[in-house]
Amino acid sequence: MNSARDILQSTFGYDDFRPPQAEIIDTVINGGDAMVLMPTGGGKSLCYQIPALARSGCGVVISPLIALMQDQVNALRELGVRASFLNSTLDANTARDIEQSLLNGELDLLYIAPERLNQPRTMDLLQRTSLSLFAIDEAHCVSQWGHDFRADYLRLSLLHEQFPTVPRIALTATADARTQEEIKLRLQLQDAAYFCAGFDRPNIRYHIALKHNPRQQLLQFLRQEHEKDAGIVYCLSRKKVDDTAAWLAQQGFNALPYHAGLDASVRADHQARFLREESVIIVATIAFGMGIDKPDVRFVAHLDMPKTVESYYQETGRAGRDGAPADAWMIYGLQDVIKLRQMMGESQGSEEHKRAEQHRLNAMLGLCEITTCRRQALLAYFDDRPEAACGNCDTCLQPVATWDGTEAARMALSAAWRTGQRFGVNHLIDVLRGAETDKIFQCDHHQLPTYGVGKELDANQWRSVYRQLVARGFLTVDLERFGALRLEEACRPVLRGEQNVELRKDVKLKASKQRTRTQLPEDLDITLWEALRDRRRELAEAQGVPPYVIFHDRTLQEMCQAVPQNLMQFGRLSGVGERKLEKYGDEFLAVINAHLEPGGAAQA
Ligand code: ADP
Ligand code: ZN
Repeated sequence: MNSARDILQSTFGYDDFRPPQAEIIDTVINGGDAMVLMPTGGGKSLCYQIPALARSGCGVVISPLIALMQDQVNALRELGVRASFLNSTLDANTARDIEQSLLNGELDLLYIAPERLNQPRTMDLLQRTSLSLFAIDEAHCVSQWGHDFRADYLRLSLLHEQFPTVPRIALTATADARTQEEIKLRLQLQDAAYFCAGFDRPNIRYHIALKHNPRQQLLQFLRQEHEKDAGIVYCLSRKKVDDTAAWLAQQGFNALPYHAGLDASVRADHQARFLREESVIIVATIAFGMGIDKPDVRFVAHLDMPKTVESYYQETGRAGRDGAPADAWMIYGLQDVIKLRQMMGESQGSEEHKRAEQHRLNAMLGLCEITTCRRQALLAYFDDRPEAACGNCDTCLQPVATWDGTEAARMALSAAWRTGQRFGVNHLIDVLRGAETDKIFQCDHHQLPTYGVGKELDANQWRSVYRQLVARGFLTVDLERFGALRLEEACRPVLRGEQNVELRKDVKLKASKQRTRTQLPEDLDITLWEALRDRRRELAEAQGVPPYVIFHDRTLQEMCQAVPQNLMQFGRLSGVGERKLEKYGDEFLAVINAHLEPGGAAQA
């Protein structure tokens, strides 16, 4: 029996385990049950793949993501692992062949859809097989509280009853405590060893900016940092998805729309292209996401603010599963808040439900307006409390300037109060700045003591003040009155002069301060990088697999940096195991050598 570390190095080509992979793998290899909470991209798969290889018999992986099974199995076969899957996409003959090889002991790993597992035929088959373990992936699907509930998951408790000696490992990236309790209960994992890897996604760089010219801002972000990358752009409405996708296509990007209003066949086609091709941008509503297991999504951009921190975390979490640098980029403005409040107002729920929603929206707003490390705030929301600022978010990289906005806040609040809390932000700004509009004169607002007291700030600065006052809960947006701003209890101390208000200075990022192509290390040899990508693409197309199945971006980057010149050096790269060395070593070394030759691309 090979040790876990040997398998890690020879089969997967990685040097070390990430915490807490080693402990989890050890537990399962020794026959224990495990419950694993690990963020997306944390490396859950190895936690069952390695024990399945180390123990005798076949490991059974239960996963609801049927569309991904083929790719997962292909990726394992590329590593020389004997893997197969059973789900409804197979014809009867193929399924029978796979069952036979299972009985013959010819499989290390078998992926099964939950509905299939519940069939007596499958149970009977497994009873006659030597099994190394059960892995229950996406284990939160057993929870009725979550949004991904699958009835078939409920019957997975049978596994424990029918196969009491086969270790089980349940895995999920879903954070909340209630769901975790339900998983343990329903899968009878109360006695399982519990592992939690925290929620941080260190390779994701968070960036939240003010919306002033959304399309240009997006364009600048894409052109400067993600020219040829795959990514997701989220919008709130279907129409905006269509418009944005069309516009990006005009700008020369490979952008495709995705939302529930499109034909199922169009959606499937766009999703497949996103998975198979490189540099496809999907513009989508939140209908897009679950079951997208593409590891090399280099950015997630939000053109509209998500409703909750949970959604933000989940959606941004789709970036950078391969561990290479990725961006979570968002722009937002006061209009987003008003629109979201409107949607909430129209929803059917009880008053209590609406209050809870309101609360969660405020937390999201707080994250947008914060002047300290975004990652710390995000993780604190999930009760994870890192001690230091992260150094990899916008507020860490470009500290936010603040100003004493106490006086301005008082003026802004007083304008809302004196106009009867019946007006929206634009009119209040007109009052403060002493504008001479019809509405001002019709309402006699030029008679108010606040009229014209705020000429020192321009309209944009006032807008920023109001936005921040709403974000901090001093003001609220009244939906019955078309976005009128009302005072909240919390603003009293400010009006009484008992509380100071520190506000952020909104700055438009200057182009010169922006990085170019941050995703690639600065000294990366771009010509070689592109040549390696081309070769990877050819190989992937020839085999009908996504490029990352051949090598991850990270491994290609290592090739550029280490510039291996022979198979031995090539074999030391992270992500190159024995099988891939044999299969692709020469192919990629040829590209590298051609590049190094005098007169080769390096000289150009
Ligand atoms: P998850 O299922 O938790 O989202 P995966 O199992 O897909 O994550 O792993 C994410 C990425 O990290 C994959 O590319 C995987 O090969 C890589 N990975 C996992 N463990 C290690 C490790 N110990 N060293 C290097 N890379 C790893
Ligand atoms: Zn930070």
